[in-house]
Amino acid sequence: MDYSLQQKIQEAVPLLQKSAFTTAFTGAGISVESGIPPFRGEEGLWNKYDPKYLEIGFFLSQPEEAWRVIKQIFFDFFGTASPNQAHLTLAGMERRGMLHRIITQNIDNLHQEAGSTNVFEFHGNSKKLVCLACYEEFPYGMISLDTLPPRCPHCQGLLKPDFVFFGEAIPQEPMMKAYDAAGRSDVFLIIGSTGEVMPANQIPPLARQHGAKIIEINPEESNYTQHVTDIYLKGKAGEVMKKLGEALFAPSLEDN
Ligand code: NAD
Repeated sequence: MDYSLQQKIQEAVPLLQKSAFTTAFTGAGISVESGIPPFRGEEGLWNKYDPKYLEIGFFLSQPEEAWRVIKQIFFDFFGTASPNQAHLTLAGMERRGMLHRIITQNIDNLHQEAGSTNVFEFHGNSKKLVCLACYEEFPYGMISLDTLPPRCPHCQGLLKPDFVFFGEAIPQEPMMKAYDAAGRSDVFLIIGSTGEVMPANQIPPLARQHGAKIIEINPEESNYTQHVTDIYLKGKAGEVMKKLGEALFAPSLEDN
């Protein structure tokens, strides 16, 4: 392993061990090693699909066309992904009392599938559908997508995936909880986020203003790296989190 990465992991470990309240803030990058591409960048979904399909106005006016693309991306493709070492290590940290909140911008449900329970979804979740007429929610496995757009089994209203479309507001509850976690954190771990998506990108600087030490994992520098981050662990989320987990969970001599 890169010597400087090893050294930086050694700096991060005691901070995480001493922290009374630790939050992880995750973006699309954490799920790349699970086979889900980010939206932006060379391999990004926006090079393949038009983002208009995720605009709420387009969805409401042409639900069948929007649903055809949404089904392809979020159900046929995302639906087969499973958690990687980064999701699993975060779940292991939570089990050991080393991680208190996950604030995720992702909609792929992979933190929950890895076993994490304290997950606040800033942008909702693609594995749930909501009826736009009666607001009843359904797990996506309950609803057939053979005929599009899918309709509510109770009132025949239009069903929409329960994630935040362009043009929709962020749900109040996860937003308040995210701000609360940022204010309480001693250590704040940013994984795989460019820092370009508003208003989620305001959360890490807020954590820093409240005195949190910021540890960042990303193969590329982000908007946070130069001015917000204290310890930058350059690399892929799964690989770096595996090393961090090994260092954090290793039994110390005192345990023997
Ligand atoms: P983003 O801010 O989520 O950026 C992706 C970041 O991931 C980049 O900084 C990139 O350098 C980094 N990255 C790439 N490979 C990585 C790896 N192996 N390990 C760690 N980091 C890696 O930007 P976006 O992709 O444009 O997403 C926009 C919004 O859409 C965000 O809210 C995002 O969470 C959401 N989104 C969610 C999913 C998902 O649910 N998996 C997928 C795409 C986008």
